[in-house]
Order: sequence, then C-alpha cells, then structure tokens
Amino acid sequence: MKIAIVGFGAAAIGFIEKMKNTDNELHIFEKSKDIYSSSISGIRADGKLFVSKGMGGDLDVDLKLQKQLVDYYIDHSDTKTVETGRSFSNDGYYKKFYEKGFLPVSADFYHIGTDQLKQVLYNIYEDFNSHKNVHFHFNAEITKVSPISGKIILNDTDTFDKVVIGVGRSGHKLVDNLAKKHPDLILDNTNVDIGIRYELPNHIVEELNKEMYEFKVKYKSKTGYMVRTFCNNPSGFVVTENYGDFCTVNGHAKLKEKSKNTNFAVLTTVKLTQPFNDPIGYGSHIAKLTNILAGENKVILQTYKHFKDSKRTKNLYRVFPTLDKNKFILGDINLAFPRRIIESIVDFIENLNVVIPGIANPDNLVYAPEIKFYSNKINNNKFNNLKFIGDCSGATRSIIYATAHGYMTAEEILNN
Ligand SMILES: Cc1cc2nc3c(=O)[nH]c(=O)nc-3n(C[C@H](O)[C@H](O)[C@H](O)COP(=O)(O)OP(=O)(O)OC[C@H]3O[C@@H](n4cnc5c(N)ncnc54)[C@H](O)[C@@H]3O)c2cc1C
Repeated sequence: MKIAIVGFGAAAIGFIEKMKNTDNELHIFEKSKDIYSSSISGIRADGKLFVSKGMGGDLDVDLKLQKQLVDYYIDHSDTKTVETGRSFSNDGYYKKFYEKGFLPVSADFYHIGTDQLKQVLYNIYEDFNSHKNVHFHFNAEITKVSPISGKIILNDTDTFDKVVIGVGRSGHKLVDNLAKKHPDLILDNTNVDIGIRYELPNHIVEELNKEMYEFKVKYKSKTGYMVRTFCNNPSGFVVTENYGDFCTVNGHAKLKEKSKNTNFAVLTTVKLTQPFNDPIGYGSHIAKLTNILAGENKVILQTYKHFKDSKRTKNLYRVFPTLDKNKFILGDINLAFPRRIIESIVDFIENLNVVIPGIANPDNLVYAPEIKFYSNKINNNKFNNLKFIGDCSGATRSIIYATAHGYMTAEEILNN
C-alpha cells in the first residue's frame, strides 16, 4: 500500500514506528523546511512525557504502551538521562489537596528538556530515514485532501491508497477545510481553555517541586468552571508563542540552564453550548484583545494583587520575570479577559494558597493570555482510507497520547 502521513509530529512518529518494518510505502509530508524548524509543539519544546490515565487525551491508552513509548523516546536520546518523578505518590500530599476541594491527578513523568529534545527527534528521524520504504518530503504543506473513488489525492497531484493526517493543532486549517466539505466529520467542538501563566520564586513551591516536579490538580471554582494547573516548570522560563495573527504565553524548562522561578499555567475550561460552535474564534479574539493592549507580539504582565484588584501594574517588587523584557508590557489583564474567567482563576489561586502558603503573594506574576485550543473531535469512522491521528483528531493533548494514537492506528490498519 502507498500511505501518506501528513505532518511529522508525535502522532506521526508512533504511526511510522509501527509501520516502518512492513512493505508499505510511506510518504511523510511536513510543511516545515526541516525537522527542527517546525511549528509550535511539545515535541520540539520542553518534552515532558507522562504516563497517566487521568490526562493526555480522551483515548484509552494502556499504561504499558504509554511506558513503552516513553522508553522509546528516552532510548533515542544521547545521554539516556531525564528528570523523572511521580505526582501524588505521597498519600499525605494527595489528602492535603483533596481536603481543600482539589482533584489531584496522578501521573509518572519524564522530562527530556528542550535542549535534549532536538537530538531525540534527529535520532528518530535518522532511524526512519534509513528504511528504504520511508520517504520524507519537507517544505511540503498539504492544503487539499480529496477522497475520490477509493483513493486519496493530496494537493491535486499525488494519489495514495491511505492517508493519515497528523497535523496537530497548528494544522487546524487543513482539518477545517475538510470539515467544511464533510460536516459530518465533526463530532464536537465547544471547549476552549483560557487562562494565565503564573510565575513565582522556586522556594515557595520547593517542597512540592521536590516531591513531584509536575503537580496537576483540578478544581471546580465558585463560578462553576473547572480550573486546572498545567505544565509546571520548576526553575523554568516563560516564553511567548506566535500563532501568526496573535501571540500567547507559555512556559518551558531546560535540562541544564535553570532559573530562580517556577511557572505553571492556570487554565479555565470554558464549555459553551448551542448555538456556539467556534471555540477557536472565541479564544483567538480574547488573545488578540490582550495583544492589542500589550502591543504587537507582546503579552500582558501583572502582579497577582493587581490582577485580583483590577489595577494596572506599574512596578514589580520581589519577583522578576524570566520572560524577555521586550515581550511583555506591565498592564491590566482585566481589560481583556471576561470577568467569569478572572473570578475562576482568582478563586483557584486563593484556595491553592491554603494548601501552599505563598502561592497568592501579592507580588507573584501573572502573564496573559495563555490559551489551549481543543481540536474538533473527529469522526474517524467516516472514511476507511483517511484517518486523523494525534491532536488534530481531538482525541489527544499530549506527546505520549498522540504517539500512542499513531501507533494504535497503524496497528489497526495492519490488523485489517
Ligand atoms: C509549546 C507547547 C509545549 C507542549 N509541551 C508538552 C509537553 O511537555 N508534554 C506533552 O505531553 N505535551 C506537550 N504539548 C502538547 C504536545 O505537543 C501535543 O499534544 C503533541 O505534539 C501532538 O502531536 P501531533 O503529532 O498531533 O501534533 P504535532 O506534534 O504538533 O505535529 C504536527 C506536525 O504537522 C505539521 N503540519 C501542520 N500542518 C501541516 C500541513 N498542512 N501540511 C504538512 N505538515 C503540517 C506541523 O509542522 C507539525 O510538525 C505542548 C504543546 C505546545 C504547543
């Protein structure tokens, strides 16, 4: 069979790994010019791998397969060294959070780090490339996918027996275009996570960071919205992410270079119902509004006290940002964020402060916007020879779940 894989991200890696030793001809189309300069994705920055049933996606992925895929990534590093830990293995911590209304999420984590991730990706690519049936095409953006009489045609030029789309969230345009032509591909599209990146001195969360490195908790706030922590970076750095027409904030950590601060996201899941059907539009407009106030390609930075009191921040006190000073302005996030989201975040932080004193210190830093888009949930039964894997399918939200989705899809194709 001649199979095309669109996008070379985490999901594609799982798919190719399972398929590479078969006699199928594999063609990978990646829009970036090489493996390094690809779009924003955790497979190119940070690289925290989780083994958990409680996060990463809505698929049922066996814990054994998850661990097998973690080992696969680690085996492709040069040093075979990663930071590792387990969230909430300590019963005391679990109970402490639970008592105050939080839902602790258990997970094993393995942190490769942005610096080492490049090598891992290169080693994987080199291995795939050494197989005669695997053909990489970089600088090859796919803009048109046409299912025609049992075959799939890409960009009106190349014909395949099967096509697997693994374009992640950055490739949503391609999926949107397909969904316009085939509306029954979409099962659900009403969620978006809107929030902030929080930064504070390491010593406040030192004990917690030592205990579990990545603490993930969920909380039902007084507004009714679910709020959660996401992507904790001990001794990490805050960065911006450019989506083309807007920019957001994010965080990452490196294996070698360390800062004095810890950062993590606090995200509110906004779930809207009929007639709403544009979560990406909603999130993007909030991001753009924040950017208008901050200036082009900049985000807003505010102290926690001012964020809570809706006052513009003009000076900082004891906590200093790890984000490059040219990438933010001091301002008031309340001018851009809906009140219900702000109230949910403040309620979350105030309650977290009861468990970890110092979390709500007035001079801790709040950056906005941090937005996580959920892809539309795709009906993967619609076409026999066109499948969606990883984040663009709406079924995954992490490296390991996306890789597993690719791997399991390849397995399914081989079994059939
Ligand atoms: C900044 C950031 C940090 C993250 N950190 C983590 C983390 O530490 N741990 C974790 O588990 N998850 C993390 N995530 C989430 C994780 O990156 C994703 O869940 C995972 O990479 C999804 O894999 P994927 O293959 O579906 O998509 P991706 O890995 O995003 O790969 C999609 C690929 O498709 C290509 N592409 C897009 N459109 C086209 C097109 N039209 N034609 C050809 N190619 C195209 C892109 O260039 C890209 O290479 C992070 C996400 C972001 C944005």
